[in-house]
Amino acid sequence: MQQVTSTKIPTFKDKPLKKIGVIGAGVMGTGLTSALLETGHQVILIDLSANILEQSINTIRQQLRLAMMEGRLDRKIKLDTLLAQITKSTELDALQEADFVIENICEKWPLKKVIYPKIDDICNQNCVFASNTSAIPITRIAAQTQRPSKVIGIHFMNPVAKKPVVETIRGFHTSDETLQTTKNLLSQLGKSCIVVNDGPGFISNRISHLFMNEAIWVVQDQLASAQAVDDIFTQCYSHKTGPLATADLIGLDTILNTLEVLYQDTLDSKFRPAPLLRKMVDAGLLGRKSGHGFFQY
Ligand code: NAD
Repeated sequence: MQQVTSTKIPTFKDKPLKKIGVIGAGVMGTGLTSALLETGHQVILIDLSANILEQSINTIRQQLRLAMMEGRLDRKIKLDTLLAQITKSTELDALQEADFVIENICEKWPLKKVIYPKIDDICNQNCVFASNTSAIPITRIAAQTQRPSKVIGIHFMNPVAKKPVVETIRGFHTSDETLQTTKNLLSQLGKSCIVVNDGPGFISNRISHLFMNEAIWVVQDQLASAQAVDDIFTQCYSHKTGPLATADLIGLDTILNTLEVLYQDTLDSKFRPAPLLRKMVDAGLLGRKSGHGFFQY
């Protein structure tokens, strides 16, 4: 497996400048765009409204500033020069020139399902489509296109810029060439990958969502506070983050959507979302992104 590099300096001159389409400018699309800019790419960033795109650009600006402070990005580079590498749009048509598209829209199958036939018509025939889905099988996504061999799963971890390894999922028809193109892009991002076969939730979320859901059941059953549950994992197991702080970081709505995909796909009751999770999402407690989840931010 390729070695991971933690210091990334954009080298616009000697790196092939690739236009990467990023659909969805939420938590992941925003983090991914920052990571792409840090490594010298151009990004076509798509979301539903100008307002969402504007918020995303503001966050990207903060993330790039942090990258400079943390030494991942050369301080001499002007932020505006980097931000100028983004083409924002609310229209998928803007993806015509993309070499590689990464889809990061909400974890809801009816929403994702309609995107793929559209980009299949819009994008050039060599363009690879990668989904950053948390749980939806890649083979099902690929079946919405006329190019199933060019569809792959790349499950980035959050925050994208700081996580060096990406779970990469081969759908039933994913070709060796598509896998290689994907590895090349990940390598340009300074990341390595672990390649797995397709199945609901792949490896990471099939396991981690059971873990986080059970932690929520424990709080719901009043066996311990959220803090005590997380302390057991950080202090007894030496995990960096407890399951509930992790859920807050991911977004409780995304956790719920992902558990619903796992439950519907497997019909296995072990994936039944804890009612407390549903109640918190209904109440607008989404974790870090709303300022309040199991913990306050
Ligand atoms: P999010 O809710 O923060 O962002 C989703 C974005 O998609 C929103 O800005 C929304 O407006 C946009 N969107 C919805 N429909 C759209 C459409 N038709 N066209 C364009 N944009 C559209 O969600 P997120 O946390 O960024 O998750 C995005 C994807 O990444 C999901 O599939 C999720 O499961 C996956 N994922 C999330 C994490 C995480 O830690 N949050 C980690 C890995 C993978």
